[in-house]
Amino acid sequence: MTMTLPYTEPLVPRKPGERVVPEPPRRGEAGGPPCGICGNKTTSAVWADENWTLHPPVGGSLPGAVWLASRVHVDSFSDLPEPLQADFGRVAARVERAILSLGDVARVHLYRWGDGGAHFHVWFIPRPLGMVEASGMMLPLWEDVLPNVPDEELAAAAERVAAAM
Ligand SMILES: [Zn+2]
Repeated sequence: MTMTLPYTEPLVPRKPGERVVPEPPRRGEAGGPPCGICGNKTTSAVWADENWTLHPPVGGSLPGAVWLASRVHVDSFSDLPEPLQADFGRVAARVERAILSLGDVARVHLYRWGDGGAHFHVWFIPRPLGMVEASGMMLPLWEDVLPNVPDEELAAAAERVAAAM
C-alpha cells in the first residue's frame, strides 16, 4: 500500500504555531457552546439502541460514512461507564460489518478525534475499494479534498448501513 497525499508536491512543511493554553472550550463542556448532540442539532439518527445512536454526515464525499454517538453525555472512552466501554466493541463491529455490506468498500476506518465536541462520538469512514493511495492516515485528507456528494446521498447510504445493522 502506497499512501499518497491528495495534493501535488512539493509541499512545504511549516512550523507549529504558538500553543494556545488554556485551549478554547469545546461544544458541550463548561464555558463552551451547548452540546449539539444532546440538543438534537445534528442529523437525525438512522439507527439507535439503548446505548448508541448512528448518524449520517453532512458535507462529505464518501457515501457510507457514519458517526456513532453514546446516548450518555460523556467525553471519551475513559469516561464511558464500563458496560458501555465493553458494548462499544460489539456495536463498532456491527457498524463495520454493515458498511462493508454496502460493497465497493475495501476497509472501514474508525476515527475518534474529540476536538470539536465533548460528547463521545466516533467516525466510521469507508475506504473505497482499490483506492490504495487513500490508505491509512491519508483517507481523511482525501475525504476532505474529493468533491462533496449531496447530503441526501450520504443520508441514503447511512440508511442502507442502518438497515444492515
Ligand atoms: Zn452531549
